Amino acid sequence: MTPTAIRTALTVEDVTLTYPDGASRLTAVDHVNLQVSGGTVAAITGPSGSGKSSLLAVISTLIRPDSGRILLETDTGTVDLASLSRAEGAALRRESIGIVFQQPNLIPALTAVEQLEVMSHLGQSLLTSRAARRETHTRAMELLDAVGLADHHAKRPAQLSGGQRQRVNIARALMNTPALLVIDEPTSALDSERGAAIIDLILDIVRTHNAATLLVTHDRTHLHRMTTVHRMLDGHLTPERLIARTA
Ligand code: ADP
Ligand code: MG
Repeated sequence: MTPTAIRTALTVEDVTLTYPDGASRLTAVDHVNLQVSGGTVAAITGPSGSGKSSLLAVISTLIRPDSGRILLETDTGTVDLASLSRAEGAALRRESIGIVFQQPNLIPALTAVEQLEVMSHLGQSLLTSRAARRETHTRAMELLDAVGLADHHAKRPAQLSGGQRQRVNIARALMNTPALLVIDEPTSALDSERGAAIIDLILDIVRTHNAATLLVTHDRTHLHRMTTVHRMLDGHLTPERLIARTA
């Protein structure tokens, strides 16, 4: 670690989430505990419907849990993600959380570099200086370069392959240099070779950006490369492997 490295950690404590289900409630996340340090990846695997995406939605502040705490510790202090208001959650997502969903969700009318730039402009006023815009453009181009797409920066989603779109998606999630990176099945729409390239990219990025990363995948071929592996079943999360294995 360099002396400037930021100490980041995510601690999920006894988190439960239920959804309304007719007259009763369905428990999607059932008293889950989890710890993820900066620069490491916790993989979450498990069958469809077991609660993986619900857990990620709670951790990324998109849904507030019924109970439990989700502590995100960074150099600026510790926040409980489970207790934020909607506005606080939105602000924190903009500043500190990178989210990558299964489907890239890119804006059809924007070029690859604009997909990234728009992330920075979201939190800024219309009077943002030309210098700040230039800085945003430079960072967007650097990230596209990091995911191997510098030459494609002027293309719109329809002109990119599925793998390229997913790489734009990942680069976009890194625009705010997130302390916490939350990724849901990034390879599910890709063939195995492109899927492996996306996993390489994620692992490389996690190390260089020191983000605490959660990665949902049901592709077991990549699990040996993750720092820890957890299994979700009926809302319960159990550790499968808690010690990093050297790949
Ligand atoms: P996974 O990502 O592992 O496939 P999900 O978190 O999507 O699992 O779903 C867990 C359970 O919660 C499932 O039974 C699913 O039907 C239910 N569920 C997911 N989202 C909602 C929602 N918005 N409202 C009600 N039930 C939901
Ligand atoms: Mg899911």
